[in-house]
Amino acid sequence: MIDLAGITKTFGKTDVIREIDLKITKGEIFTLIGPSGSGKTTLLRIIDLLDTPSAGSYRFDGTDTQDPATDLIPLRRRMAMVFQKPAVLNTSVEENVAFGLKFRGVDSKIIGEQVRAALDMVGLYHLAKRRAISLSGGEMQRVAIARAIITKPEILLLDEPTANLDPLSSDTIESVIKKVNRESKTTVILATHDMVQGQRLADRIGVIMNGSLVQTGTGHDIFYRPDTQAIARFVGIDTILSGTVTKNMEGHAYIEVCGRTIEAVTSLPPGTKVNLYLRPEEVSLSLPKTNDHSRSSIRNHLTGRITGIVPFGPFERITVDCGCTITALLTRFSCEDLHLLPGMDVVAEIKASAVHVTAYKP
Ligand code: ADP
Ligand code: MG
Repeated sequence: MIDLAGITKTFGKTDVIREIDLKITKGEIFTLIGPSGSGKTTLLRIIDLLDTPSAGSYRFDGTDTQDPATDLIPLRRRMAMVFQKPAVLNTSVEENVAFGLKFRGVDSKIIGEQVRAALDMVGLYHLAKRRAISLSGGEMQRVAIARAIITKPEILLLDEPTANLDPLSSDTIESVIKKVNRESKTTVILATHDMVQGQRLADRIGVIMNGSLVQTGTGHDIFYRPDTQAIARFVGIDTILSGTVTKNMEGHAYIEVCGRTIEAVTSLPPGTKVNLYLRPEEVSLSLPKTNDHSRSSIRNHLTGRITGIVPFGPFERITVDCGCTITALLTRFSCEDLHLLPGMDVVAEIKASAVHVTAYKP
């Protein structure tokens, strides 16, 4: 459906996005995650044909959008974009939603039916007569989505649709997006700096950093198998270590890391310098006395001392000095059960399969 190759956008002298290759298939939900300023909005605007790239090619459903003979208006009408800060008109909700169809000169009876269908889709039909500016932020965002889907776009682009919304409103918006995708087979491209949201919604995720699309893959690929240290940090992996493979038995490797040996699953041969990535949720902690290695399937037991305990949402983020710092995320109850305190000795336990290993990259 969307085929971008070597897309670059330059403002002044800087490449705001650089040589992006990306294909998006009909019917999928693709989320673009990346820190703010990484180029998400710029890329969405190019896909939506609002901006033209400085270099590269863009084919939309087989049509070359840069061919001077291509009429872009019919292509643009097959897409709809919900902007980060959607402006609502100072009229009723239904008039706001009807706007796109009125603009296209659609018959008023048909408009009435379609406004109802669009408002039903976003769960706001009961507010059809309300003035749009009196709505909450979440409701306004749903009006903006209704206004976009009423034109029956094949592709719905959403730019940070839940930024600044409370968790409950965000949940509602996410359900609406999934429903539109499922029921209307609409291809969805969504930009977010919220990596967890990206993971919840997406069939596929693309990570954009400093204008480059650095990795695309499933949620599992991105969150458990990041390609680089920068991606790993962005997706919440705070333990990144480096070491050397000392032994490898059919993919079960022994890796020397800060004076210890960590067992992991990788085919990299002995002598290879590697990076090791540990998700904090995959690290559990136990007390040295009760730690019985023989009965556990967990291969790595690293003794260390707690250096910090900091609340992290509903969890506690605990740093342990095991020669190098390893971070664990425990629920508050597990933390209390073990009576964990800074300065205590604990054993960090990590399954060999939970350690992601790549060849060393700085
Ligand atoms: P994101 O949506 O990921 O936050 P943007 O695509 O909005 O990032 O912006 C990427 C970078 O491009 C930022 O550094 C921004 O300042 C710059 N930028 C965006 N639009 C323009 C513009 N029209 N002129 C100059 N710089 C721009
Ligand atoms: Mg943006």
